[in-house]
Amino acid sequence: MKIGFIGLGNMGAPMAANLVKAGHDVIGFDVAGATAEGASVAKSAAEAATGADVVITMLPSGAILRDVADQIIPAMTNGAVFLDCSTVDVDSARAVAEQAQAAGLSALDAPVSGGVGGAAGGTLTFMVGGDDTGFAKAAPLFEVMGQKAVHCGPSGNGQAAKICNNMILGVTMIATCEAFALADKLGLAREAMFDVVSTSSGYSWSMNAYCPAPGVGPQSPADNGYLPGFAAELMLKDLGLSQQAADAADADTPMGAAALELYKRFVEDEDGRGKDFSAMLPRFEKRARS
Ligand code: NAD
Repeated sequence: MKIGFIGLGNMGAPMAANLVKAGHDVIGFDVAGATAEGASVAKSAAEAATGADVVITMLPSGAILRDVADQIIPAMTNGAVFLDCSTVDVDSARAVAEQAQAAGLSALDAPVSGGVGGAAGGTLTFMVGGDDTGFAKAAPLFEVMGQKAVHCGPSGNGQAAKICNNMILGVTMIATCEAFALADKLGLAREAMFDVVSTSSGYSWSMNAYCPAPGVGPQSPADNGYLPGFAAELMLKDLGLSQQAADAADADTPMGAAALELYKRFVEDEDGRGKDFSAMLPRFEKRARS
């Protein structure tokens, strides 16, 4: 396929390189001049989109996505697929999809989980919103860039799935970290805490697969000085998107709201920027009740 790829940052560049390796003809564009291994370079987003069967965007925010959509939709061929893999707000995803459909395109919102490692290894999970035709056309590309693609329903539902998942993740990571800090103060060894909780009703992905305590459980960023992994500021972004969506949908999400406040403080006032989101554990360790 001929693929335009816009946004060649930490995630976009390795995803585009994997498409090239799989034999696709990829032309990339990034405002910062970033490139992807093996992909040719366009001078503008519109040039990357012209004549492409599929245009993939991997951008930082909904506002930037809307801006790029204005540039590329008029340049795209009728029937082509606009595949946005960025994590953005549900409203922007739905607005861009409507604009693309009105111009005779298929539109998919397909945010990912799996991080930079998953992008490089081609093992991402895609959560996809949009029409069946677009999903069928993009399926071979999901197979190259990832290990799983779940069709979650109409446009915006991919973003909805992503932010609900990450709201659970933020909340369970905080709960796991505060419980470890309490266990420390009660004199319970971390290894014993892990052995019990990971096989009891308190288990979760945060405890079992990504344990925030160094030297305990499987290898995780805690064993590497809390280098990300998944940075606290990216968790903050996703928790902000989930609260924005909860406001718009009038949903009561008190735990999500509390997690947003804690990560906001951690990133903005407590030196959490640039650390893995599991570094909440040393934060709690240092604190007292009042
Ligand atoms: P990044 O900042 O490394 O890359 C974004 C790229 O977009 C940059 O290279 C930037 O120059 C480019 N860009 C910005 N505006 C542009 C424009 N108008 N035209 C063309 N290019 C433009 O970010 P990233 O880590 O690659 O993340 C991309 C998206 O994936 C984000 O929405 C993020 O939330 C999501 N995501 C990231 C991770 C992760 O672990 N990094 C995991 C899951 C999802």
